[in-house]
Amino acid sequence: MKAWDEFDVYLFDIDGTLLNCRDAVHYFAFCDALTTLAGRPVNLDGVVTHGNTDVGILRDALRLADVPESVWRPALPATRDAMSAFVEARMHGFDIEATPGIGRVLDHLKARGAVLGVATGNLERIGRAKLRKAGVLHRFDFGGYSDEFEYRRDVFGAALQTARRLAGKAAAVCVVGDTPEDVRAAKACGLPVIAVATGIFPHADLLAEAPDWCLRSFLDVLPES
Ligand SMILES: [Mg+2]
Repeated sequence: MKAWDEFDVYLFDIDGTLLNCRDAVHYFAFCDALTTLAGRPVNLDGVVTHGNTDVGILRDALRLADVPESVWRPALPATRDAMSAFVEARMHGFDIEATPGIGRVLDHLKARGAVLGVATGNLERIGRAKLRKAGVLHRFDFGGYSDEFEYRRDVFGAALQTARRLAGKAAAVCVVGDTPEDVRAAKACGLPVIAVATGIFPHADLLAEAPDWCLRSFLDVLPES
């Protein structure tokens, strides 16, 4: 087995992994979109958001609200645009913190020649806005976002294809994420995974999914400097 820093490509989750959002801008973008689609106020009560994708969250919320798929699915492209515009217009309200040690971890992997990507449930424009605000967008070579996908494993699968296109068919690719669903989706794609308890899930919950590495923080693996 390789060491954690010997892979050719890394696919990083965004929320809880690269950064944490303490604001509710993204949440209110969902509420705005759901309310438009349902024609009455709908929020995310009862919906599993962590480890889900933005499109999957819309689907689950609309199901709970009994809005038929024939109503909302054709409106998905317009909804993605509206949510992205909603967030971009409120970036001043972002309260985002990069995960402790992440800058040095990314520098270290880059110095070792790794290709860095994101693989996230965020819509592309929303994910990029968060990464920009956290000051890490420029460190990534590519991104796999959820615009065309409802399930995390499909986001990872598409990001894996991009990774192999950029780094070669034989490239060794590793996922980095903060939720049990990241570990499951990585395994579904046959990828090794570094789980890190920097989001809302405790270390023990991640350990139970048997990731290849299970960190409490990136500070656990920071190289000496
Ligand atoms: Mg996450």
